[in-house]
Amino acid sequence: MDERADLHIHTTYSDGTFSAGAVVARARQAGLACIAITDHDHVGAIGEARAAGTQLGIEVIAGVELSTTLAQQDVHLLGYFLDPAYPPLQEYLASMRVERMRRAERMVEKLNGMSVPLTMHAVLNQAGEAAVGRPHIATALAVAGLTESYHEAFSRYIGFGRPAYEEKVTMAPREAIRLIGEAGGVSCIAHPGASIPDALLRELIHAGVDGIEIVHPSHTPEQTAYYRSIAEAYFLLTCGGSDFHGGGRSDEEALGKHTIPLDHVRTIERRVKQR
Ligand code: AMP
Ligand code: ZN
Ligand code: FE
Ligand code: FE
Repeated sequence: MDERADLHIHTTYSDGTFSAGAVVARARQAGLACIAITDHDHVGAIGEARAAGTQLGIEVIAGVELSTTLAQQDVHLLGYFLDPAYPPLQEYLASMRVERMRRAERMVEKLNGMSVPLTMHAVLNQAGEAAVGRPHIATALAVAGLTESYHEAFSRYIGFGRPAYEEKVTMAPREAIRLIGEAGGVSCIAHPGASIPDALLRELIHAGVDGIEIVHPSHTPEQTAYYRSIAEAYFLLTCGGSDFHGGGRSDEEALGKHTIPLDHVRTIERRVKQR
């Protein structure tokens, strides 16, 4: 039987719409055999997702999507099969949440300075248990009618280089790769086709990344083939998924539409056990 896996899924612990339990139930409905929960800078959903997975008969892999920066470029790194309770990982994620809170406050202050009366309360309402980020600010702006849409919030105010944008303090990819490894996991470059020029990809491979996300809604079939060939050439793992957030932020993201064979998950697991 052709069993499929989706290794890139968000919950309400980052900017997803659905709780861990709801996401697992939907993944089961979509016929997936295995999923990884990969919240941005958060591992809070994993316990609940695992419990739901056991109940519903779907394998749930502990994952995370760490935000890193190299040469002013955002690099998202996916971690798989890590120990979510590993203390240095927990400490790092907690410090990131504090940083993100301060950054959101600075962005709200900038908006207020531009006579956009957004409150931190409204932003935190959107964030819930998640580490607060620009998607929450954008949603809060749109919900309050201060912008026409989620996207206008970025194009007018909080997109890179826009007047209320604030930089994010993050670690370098090399540090994140090491942290994921020390937590017992493997690291993969997320959606390279969307954001990673080849020169940067080469640097990340030299920094010791374990794999590349080849299947992603932003990737064309040509890009998937291209990144697969790079993974083969460098003896890297391949992974992929839907980058599911729920809520139809993108028509392309849907559970069951962007998957990899379950075999690939077993290959990742084999590499994990050999480290
Ligand atoms: P943050 O980590 O708080 O900087 O938020 C980054 C997230 O904001 C990205 O993962 C996207 O989901 C979203 N984002 C960033 N730039 C844009 C943009 N120009 N338009 C729409 N969404 C964006
Ligand atoms: Zn996200
Ligand atoms: Fe990402
Ligand atoms: Fe993602």
